[in-house]
Amino acid sequence: ATPISVTVGIGRGARDGVLIKDAEALESLEKINTLLIDKTGTLTEGKPTLQNFSVAAGESEANLLALSMALEQRSEHPVAHAIVSYAEARDSKPAEISDFTSITGKGVSARFDGKTVLLGNPALLNERAIDISDFAQQVTDLQMLGHTVMLMGVDQKAVALLSVADKIKASSKEAIAQLQQQGIQVIVLTGDNAITAQAVAKQLGLDDVRADLLPADKFRIVQELQAQGRVVAMAGDGINDAPALAQADVGIAMGSGTDVAMHSAHVVLVKGDLGGILKARSLSHQAMKNIR
Ligand code: ADP
Ligand code: MG
Repeated sequence: ATPISVTVGIGRGARDGVLIKDAEALESLEKINTLLIDKTGTLTEGKPTLQNFSVAAGESEANLLALSMALEQRSEHPVAHAIVSYAEARDSKPAEISDFTSITGKGVSARFDGKTVLLGNPALLNERAIDISDFAQQVTDLQMLGHTVMLMGVDQKAVALLSVADKIKASSKEAIAQLQQQGIQVIVLTGDNAITAQAVAKQLGLDDVRADLLPADKFRIVQELQAQGRVVAMAGDGINDAPALAQADVGIAMGSGTDVAMHSAHVVLVKGDLGGILKARSLSHQAMKNIR
């Protein structure tokens, strides 16, 4: 039978928007010594807005915006929403594209006017042997400001740069500082690039950042740390976090995130407020003290 103090703890959490799905998660919370935390949508609001849109010499800004809009209307990614909103605000009409494909953790592609169009992170264009040197300096400058930078390639030419920025949640800084004071090692995991991720992490007093990760990498990092004997919590919001959330000793999903993340996790923070992790730990501590 579930001890009464556990039931009470779970009930108290629910009242404060901290949904603890099972007794085991409540038990494990006080034991965690490592917190892996996704950047986009977890440390940050997950509602990026477009900051820059610049095109190569001789290219039409209106045409490339229409093309970006067409590609990103078909994507669910937060950066896609930022680009579509920007295009809508400028009354852009989507271009006629075909053969849309989403390249997980990298970007999107389609065919337009007999050409292959790519829109995604600089690594994606590099992989496809597109020369991005004309944009390289601007890419680094914006990444150092914490922007996520995307490039558009049409066939073998880099034609546009788009950058988005995402606000850090008001609750993140204090919650992270307190978790660190409790002796928890906090590591940022992200599919975004290292320069952008480090710029964001630095604002939160964090320096351990693992960047350029695919969903399988996040999962593997959880397993590796567990194999070292660490008790690992993972906090995230995306489909790409789901395998890692399920594998962690305590998976913590944001209520603002995807359904898949919430199903995979053991704890859901209804409002996505990271202070909920502290709350959950204190409930865990109280419940376990009463049992001991
Ligand atoms: P995160 O961990 O930041 O949520 P993802 O693994 O989902 O990141 O994506 C990694 C990177 O791939 C993004 O930061 C972005 O640069 C690029 N990317 C992903 N989806 C898209 C898209 N629909 N359009 C353009 N770029 C994208
Ligand atoms: Mg995310």
